[in-house]
Amino acid sequence: MLNQMQVMNLFKESGGLLTGHFELSSGLHSAQYLQCALLLQHPGRATLLCSELASRFKGKKIDVVIGPALGGIIVSYEVARALGARSIFCERKQGKMSLRRGFRIKKGERVLIVEDVITTGGSVKEIIQIVRESGNELIGIGALIDRSVEKKDFGIDYEALVSLNIKAFSPAQCPLCKEGIPLEKPGTKPR
Ligand SMILES: [Zn+2]
Repeated sequence: MLNQMQVMNLFKESGGLLTGHFELSSGLHSAQYLQCALLLQHPGRATLLCSELASRFKGKKIDVVIGPALGGIIVSYEVARALGARSIFCERKQGKMSLRRGFRIKKGERVLIVEDVITTGGSVKEIIQIVRESGNELIGIGALIDRSVEKKDFGIDYEALVSLNIKAFSPAQCPLCKEGIPLEKPGTKPR
């Protein structure tokens, strides 16, 4: 069982907790940024974190784990490995999240959605829609990190290994802007 502090230590050891002056995908600025890819580049650490996330859904008979590309692919794969399930991913095509490459959710499959970091929950909500349209049962949602201001309520079992409340500022009120610190845009999500 990994607690929040142990998870954050894994991020620090991986150099995945960045400090500086960042523009988040929400448009807000913050002094810290969490880059999951820097942790997930270490397969051993990825397995450790994702099996912890998977353990929160043990006994729920998950058949298929689905995550949004790119951030959710490794998480989905490792969580699926731990649960003995299948792993697929959704990707954005012309702005819309969809299942491609012949991926399908088969009739009667029990589905778990996973993501690396949940901020607004936008991608996850789109996948919820895809699962519901397939007529299958959505069992839960899992994330390595929840960095929303208030923990998201998706109306279904939702687990995040860490709830992170990183202070964010509107550009007009950002103290880092006032100090003239160069702004970085580390995110990979399309706007
Ligand atoms: Zn700023």
